[in-house]
Order: sequence, then C-alpha cells, then structure tokens
Amino acid sequence: MTNDGELSQPSEVAPGCVRVAAVDVANLCDESLRARLVEIGRARSGLEAMYADTLGEIARRDSTAVAEQVAKDTLAVSGRAARADVKTAEALGELDATRSGLASGQIPPGHARLIARAAGDAPIDEGFLAGRARCEGYDEFRRTVARHVADRSGDDGESLLERQRRSRAGRVFTRRDDGMVVLHLELDPLTGARVNTVVAATERSMFRDEDPKARPTPAQRTADAITKLLLEPGTRRPAGTTLLVVADYDMVNHQLRNTRLADGTPIPIGDIAKAAVEMKVLPVIFEDATADLRMGRTRRTADEFQRAALALRDQGCIGCGIAPERCYSHHVTEWRDDGPTDYANLVTVCNNCHKVKIHEQGFTVERDRPKGRFRLRAPPS
Ligand SMILES: [Zn+2]
Repeated sequence: MTNDGELSQPSEVAPGCVRVAAVDVANLCDESLRARLVEIGRARSGLEAMYADTLGEIARRDSTAVAEQVAKDTLAVSGRAARADVKTAEALGELDATRSGLASGQIPPGHARLIARAAGDAPIDEGFLAGRARCEGYDEFRRTVARHVADRSGDDGESLLERQRRSRAGRVFTRRDDGMVVLHLELDPLTGARVNTVVAATERSMFRDEDPKARPTPAQRTADAITKLLLEPGTRRPAGTTLLVVADYDMVNHQLRNTRLADGTPIPIGDIAKAAVEMKVLPVIFEDATADLRMGRTRRTADEFQRAALALRDQGCIGCGIAPERCYSHHVTEWRDDGPTDYANLVTVCNNCHKVKIHEQGFTVERDRPKGRFRLRAPPS
C-alpha cells in the first residue's frame, strides 16, 4: 500500500452528507484508485438523492413545469433531461426504500431511475426491486425490472407494450451547428427488435463484402446499412433477419409462458403471435441439448441455431451488453489455435469489444462461477 491509508477507512462524515477528499490521484496505487471510484460512486448517489429531493420539493411547492424550468436554468441541462429528472424526482418522493438506498449510496442512480420509471408502468413491489438494485449490475437489473413490470402489470405486459407503442416517436431534422441530417427514432421493444434485426443483418452482409484493409467504423456501417435499406427498396433481406423469441414451456398446463426477446425483454405472447404472422420467427427449445450444437472444425462461423442459442445464453455482448442482434460469435479458443465452432467454445461479442478489447487490449473471456455467465476480463495491469 502507498501513503493513502485514509482511503481504506470509512469516511467520517455525518449521515446524509456527501464528501470525497480531493487527493492527487497520480500518487494512488491501482487498488486505491478503485476504492476511490467506489467512494465517488456512493457520493454521486448521495448527490442524486439530494438533487431529487430538491427538485421534488420545488415541484410540490410550485409545479412540475416550474421545477423543469429551474433545473434547465440553474444546471444548464437540456429540456429533455430536465423533464426526465423532475419525473424521476417526483416518483422517488413516493419510493422510500429506493430513495434511502440512493441517499446512502447503496443504490446507484441509474438503478433508482429504472425503479422510478417502473413505478409509473405497473404496481411494483418496491422493496423487492430496491433489494435487487443493491446487488445486481445495470444490465441484469434492467432485465429484472422489465420482468417484474410484466409480472405485476396483470395483463402479461400488454398494457405496457401498448403504452410504449403509443410513445413511438420519429424526427428527421438538420442539425444547425454542422448541417448534418439526423434521423431519430424511438420504438417499442418488439418493433425495435425487428428493425434492429434487419439493420444488423444488413450490416453483417455489408461487412462480408468489405475490403478488410479499408473497413468503415461500426457507426459508419450502421449509417450505410440504414441508408441502403431506405434508398434501395429492392434490397434483398439478407440471411439472419429472423427475430428470435423465447418462451418457457409449462409442462403442467401445456402452455407457453415468460415469452421474451433474446435479451430478456418480456413481450406478451399475443403480440409475438401477431408478429409471427408477418415475419419469420425462429422457435427454439434448448434445455440441455445445447451441448450438441457442435459444428467442430467443419465450419468457422456459427450457424443460425448456434447464434440463437448463444444470444439466449449471453443475452448480448459479454463485454458491453449491447443487443444480441448486433453481435458476432467469437471463438474462446481461437480458430487458428484449432478451436472448434462449438456452442461451448463460442461467446457473443460486438464488433467493438471483439476488435478493441479482445484483440487490441488483451481482454480475456472468463466464466463468472456463481452464475455461469461469460464476461470479458481486463488484462492484469
Ligand atoms: Zn461489446
């Protein structure tokens, strides 16, 4: 340890008071830098709680609109951010367990916002969510909340999806500062997954046709794929445009339940049935059969079923959590080192994590034992 022993001691501050000592970070060892981040994270949560209390109080005394205006004027945030902050603040006023978890630094601000939003979507069990918020990472907790809202909404999430559909929004505008034309689209999870599936499949087919020495960036490729789909209506839908939906089969009642997208977002079964009429849906039952999804050395790339099985197991990029539609399969033991194209030797990663984290920065794939999840581990510094 270096001369920063004060960091390992609990901060001597009064409850509800948030303070992190200013230190020269250049003198801290790695462990102390991490400990400092934990402390800063707690302080941030505490500040968020105070921010919410203050905005909530202004909204209560005056009005929601006044609170939004004050947030905009005093903190110079966008109108959109101000509206979201006041909405969260008002919701947290009714959510004691979440608010106190935030104030004590045990619930991160992003988790608190998810609970606040969920409270507007369904009659949630706040104690349950506040408990899970203390121990789950963001992506895992987002899924927990989505599942909980679907369970508690009493109609298999039908009204939530309907509300999300009504909240759809699109905007095409020219950005004044640089003249770029911007397309902005907000879609419900089911429609969004369908669009994402087609765009991502188009990107994959473009990727295959690229000169490996002159590849566009992932963002440029996404722009090219959307442009191609819009301007070339004859564009043939590339392979892999199948939307993957998952369900548990209830053996006792002989019905499907817990229907969801591959990333775990719950979707009412009726809507999946409707979608299935218009599109190709890949029904998959895996159970323990996944061990048999072996292609060995017969082919280098994963086939459609393997991709589906991997999307289910990993629920998105194991490095950054991005949606499975935008990911590729990566060999844990590399193909050039004789690694087989088997389910057990493949993980889901996005283009960026694959190229930058694994191949440039030396991240390795590891299995998180208690949960059996794969994740990327930073190389020892
Ligand atoms: Zn990633």
